[in-house]
Amino acid sequence: MADCTHDCSTCSSNCGTRSKTSFIKSPHRESHIRRVVAVTSGKGGVGKSLVVSLLAVRAQAMGLRTAILDADITGPSIPRAFGVRELATGTDGNIRPVVTRTGIKLISMNNLLEHEDDPVVWRGALIAGATLQFWTDVVWGDVDIMFIDMPPGTGDVPLSVFQSIPISGAVVVTTPQSLVEMIVKKNVNMARMMDVPVLGLAENMSYFACPDCGKRHEIFGESKAAALAEKYAIPAVSRIPLDPSLTALADMGRVEEADTDCIAEIFAEAMQSRLIEDRLK
Ligand code: ADP
Repeated sequence: MADCTHDCSTCSSNCGTRSKTSFIKSPHRESHIRRVVAVTSGKGGVGKSLVVSLLAVRAQAMGLRTAILDADITGPSIPRAFGVRELATGTDGNIRPVVTRTGIKLISMNNLLEHEDDPVVWRGALIAGATLQFWTDVVWGDVDIMFIDMPPGTGDVPLSVFQSIPISGAVVVTTPQSLVEMIVKKNVNMARMMDVPVLGLAENMSYFACPDCGKRHEIFGESKAAALAEKYAIPAVSRIPLDPSLTALADMGRVEEADTDCIAEIFAEAMQSRLIEDRLK
């Protein structure tokens, strides 16, 4: 301790005085954000962006001032699902989010690229930097709840987002296939290591409700959501059906017309999550 520089960011010592909030960054001075919910998954393609979209659509429909920060820089699918093509405007250090038809504020790499099919071929550090700029340099204004579409996995970029943004709670998205437990465990551990409570487990493509016979078919295997939630003490579970109309709405840029009842349990839990002002002090 004799040579302590009081700079925990460059020190690996586990001295007990390490501040868990030392890396938290404040948002833009004109951003007043009450809650931030991070939506994570173990890998791409499991429906994380769809879950973010449904949560945001539900929040906005309930009259909350809602925002989406699309941190899935290399696979940004949110703007397309909402049918917003325009580029974000602003000057250096003052980016204005785009606004969807129903009024959700949104920023995504695709709102900064000239062509939405331009690939982003950056290295991790640059991607993490861009994501944090979406937090620090975007003028979000007054926001009751923000949803972050996290990069999949538990690598550098999601870790740096968890470390730098004062997140109220996390939602983990999975499908019912095998290996799901390992993936859930990794995501839960990452969130908890960062002192972020896990609010909900969303089991996507959980079943198919047959329009003819009305029966629920568990196409990708028996649901594990309730058992996993109990095992890892996750308070809310939502089972989202495999529904071709959801794919169609997202493809047509009309996800705001989707029925969001399937995500109601997790949404309710998100509304109980802690306010970020406590973590910014
Ligand atoms: P991720 O963000 O995890 O990469 P997406 O949310 O982009 O995944 O989903 C991948 C594709 O699967 C999209 O075309 C999306 O519309 C579709 N999809 C996701 N969940 C469902 C569902 N429950 N029913 C129908 N299509 C779905």
